[in-house]
Amino acid sequence: MSLLDVAFIKQKALDCGFHKVGISAVPTREAPPPSAEPISLSVQRLQQWLKQGHHADMAWMKDPRRQDIYLVMPDVRSVISVALNYYTPYEQSQDAAHAKISRYGWGRDYHKVLGRRLKSLAAWLEAQGEGVKARYYVDTGPIQEEVWAQQAGLGWIGKHGNLITREYGSWVFLGEILTNLELPPDRPHTDHCGTCTRCIEACPTQAITDPFVVDANRCIAYHTIENRSETIPEAIAPHLQNWVAGCDICQAVCPWNERFAQETDVSDFQPYPQNLAPSLTELAQLSEHEWDQRFRASALRRIRPDMMRRNAKASFQSD
Ligand code: SF4
Ligand code: SF4
Repeated sequence: MSLLDVAFIKQKALDCGFHKVGISAVPTREAPPPSAEPISLSVQRLQQWLKQGHHADMAWMKDPRRQDIYLVMPDVRSVISVALNYYTPYEQSQDAAHAKISRYGWGRDYHKVLGRRLKSLAAWLEAQGEGVKARYYVDTGPIQEEVWAQQAGLGWIGKHGNLITREYGSWVFLGEILTNLELPPDRPHTDHCGTCTRCIEACPTQAITDPFVVDANRCIAYHTIENRSETIPEAIAPHLQNWVAGCDICQAVCPWNERFAQETDVSDFQPYPQNLAPSLTELAQLSEHEWDQRFRASALRRIRPDMMRRNAKASFQSD
């Protein structure tokens, strides 16, 4: 495909409603990248993170495909990364009687919103020529998506581990299409955290143990969404600050978000009213039926009713 075709692919991604698109090249399997190359370094960092047990019980983080993209698609030659802004101009309630829900979960499930768009982009790409393969992922795939997104020039990985874009800050969902098409890559994005340490200092549980290293064992987002135990650990519960579904603290303090967050044009991400200032007491007593009604078409369904009750109860003990 020619350069013109790449521009066409990018325009198609924007036409599908994505706010940013970029491309990374993947060398052939027979010519693996040198060990000092960014993707190799990111694999080494992931291995170190796993070795230190920072993944807690998220076994899927150990999936070998996460460290070797050829195990996902043996003939992959390019990764098309996309970003979708989800910021809306509301804030979590600071009332002690209200629970806090992370912005990512306020509106419609982003897997559905991005998945629909990526499906149509991948189908279009495959229709461009015989033998063209396109496989898409949103969040749950065995892909280091922030790493590929930085490589594709969408933004840089902040010290809190999220991708930051110049246009929207870090309030973006990422997705990617792996393809066997050999496409001219974009230039990787440079790092713009500089000497800032705001996210590290703001984290109430000191989960950012080093710049770019988040220990899930200490992270409120992990404990409220992924931890399936009956109780929240004693070291974490007093610091929940009413967060029952994720935690936005490290992103909210980031100067790039303060300056560059802008309202999304995706109506699906407008908050469902019940998610902005939910009653802690109601969530602590949530029945299965209420949970089902309340979190329809929501990414928060990952937090089962017993977990939501657990999180709300633990929040009563927090600072
Ligand atoms: S999500 Fe919350 S707990 Fe986790 S690193 Fe960020 S500020 Fe700390
Ligand atoms: S708060 Fe500062 S250090 Fe943290 S991600 Fe933002 S710019 Fe980087």
